[in-house]
Amino acid sequence: MNGVKIKILETIFDKYQQWIAGERFHCHRGCSLCCTQNVLITGVEGQYMYNHILLEKREQWFAERLLLERPSINVQLTTNGFARLCLEKNEDYPEGEPDQATGRCPFLEENCCSVYAARPFSCRGFASSSACHLDGFAHLDERLLVINTVTMQLIEHLGQRGYWGNMLDVLLALAPHQANKAVNEHIGAETEITGAIMRTLTAEPIPGFLLQPEDENEVNRYLQSVFSAKIGGKTIEEIFNNK
Ligand code: SF4
Ligand code: SF4
Repeated sequence: MNGVKIKILETIFDKYQQWIAGERFHCHRGCSLCCTQNVLITGVEGQYMYNHILLEKREQWFAERLLLERPSINVQLTTNGFARLCLEKNEDYPEGEPDQATGRCPFLEENCCSVYAARPFSCRGFASSSACHLDGFAHLDERLLVINTVTMQLIEHLGQRGYWGNMLDVLLALAPHQANKAVNEHIGAETEITGAIMRTLTAEPIPGFLLQPEDENEVNRYLQSVFSAKIGGKTIEEIFNNK
């Protein structure tokens, strides 16, 4: 995986974190009701997680968790695919996919995330202003939901033509791409890898954003903060535009 992509991903994570720094959430260490197996990621985020695991030499631990028995989770549309359909048809947004009930994320240990530093954006962006265990669901301000969707679109654009889908499937699909003997030894389950690849979709470029007029100012300022960041002498906007 291209090192520039990983640097752009880290920059997007940083810019997002700065953007939400003043927000107040109920989330705290050990609160993990939201840590299910229903997490969606792009291949570039999966590679970021592998880099972290390889650095810490936790390949076997990682493989054991990836290969745990679990229900298949099917995905129908990527975030950019959804936006593309809405923009092409110029219609109201179609219904989202129904929530597929799934068990706890296999990376949870003692109610804490054991891959926290490398967790994907879906995990970074999932938050609530009130206690989920009391209300039964998360509350997130509408404007933050918009910023989250825009961020997912940016990351999918970064990982375009790569895998997109359920985190555990994308990680299994990426296993054969790791030039690492330990990964190949521990995650060599061909049937599981083939099944995971078949369940993933292909990440798409951004077709446009689905914004209400009242969202535009904040989204433009947010995009400007991301696009103007420099990686190796070029802005992210220039890299995205192949300049
Ligand atoms: S989103 Fe809800 S369950 Fe998850 S950490 Fe925040 S308050 Fe806890
Ligand atoms: S990767 Fe970490 S933060 Fe994300 S769902 Fe799993 S345990 Fe929770």
